[in-house]
Amino acid sequence: MPFNTYPYELPPLPYAYDALEPYIDTETMHIHHNKHFAAYITNLNNVLKDQPCLQKLSLEQLLCSHLPAHIKTTILNNAGGVYNHTKFFENLSPVNENNHMPSNRMMWMIQYNYGSWENFKRIFTDTALSVFGSGWACLSYNRQRELKIISLANQDTVVPYCASSVILCDVWEHAYYLKYRNMRSEYVNNIWNILKFQEIE
Ligand code: MN
Repeated sequence: MPFNTYPYELPPLPYAYDALEPYIDTETMHIHHNKHFAAYITNLNNVLKDQPCLQKLSLEQLLCSHLPAHIKTTILNNAGGVYNHTKFFENLSPVNENNHMPSNRMMWMIQYNYGSWENFKRIFTDTALSVFGSGWACLSYNRQRELKIISLANQDTVVPYCASSVILCDVWEHAYYLKYRNMRSEYVNNIWNILKFQEIE
C-alpha cells in the first residue's frame, strides 16, 4: 500500500483488532493503532501545517530531505513513526491466514545468507532483544540486493539506507507491555506466528 501524503490520515487496520489474539491482545492493538500510531500522524500534520514546501513531499522524501534545523527532529521522529507503523501493521496477519512463512525465493535467500531458517530466526530474535530502549528489529533488502538484519533506534527507518523492510518487529514497550510486561523475548518468539513477509521486487 502506498503511503498517503499531507494531510496524513490514519490508515485503517487491515484486520480486526482482535485478529492477532492470543499473540497480541486486543487492548494493545487498540492503543497501539488508535493512540500511538494516530499520535505520530497528528504530530506530523501539526509540524507540517505551516510548511507548504514540505507538504508537497512524499513520506519517503521527507525522511531523506534536508530539513530546517528547528523542526528536523520532530519531523524525523513523527514521519519515521508513520512510516514504521504503516509497515508494521501491514506486516502482520491473523494466525490462521497461512502466510507466515517466506516465499520459496525469499527462503532460498534467507538460507543462502543465514545458513538455515532456524539460524535466521535466532539472529533476528537476538537483534530484537538487543535493542536498548525503544526501537525496531528489521529484515531489510537494499539496492545491492542484500538481505540484512538490522536494528533501528526509536523511529529511525530503512529509508535513508535506500532499503525496504521485508519484516519489521516493533520492540517499543507499547507494542507488548500490557500482555508481556518485561518479557520482550516471549513477545518476539510469538510474533513469528503472525508475521507476514513483505515481497521484494
Ligand atoms: Mn509502535
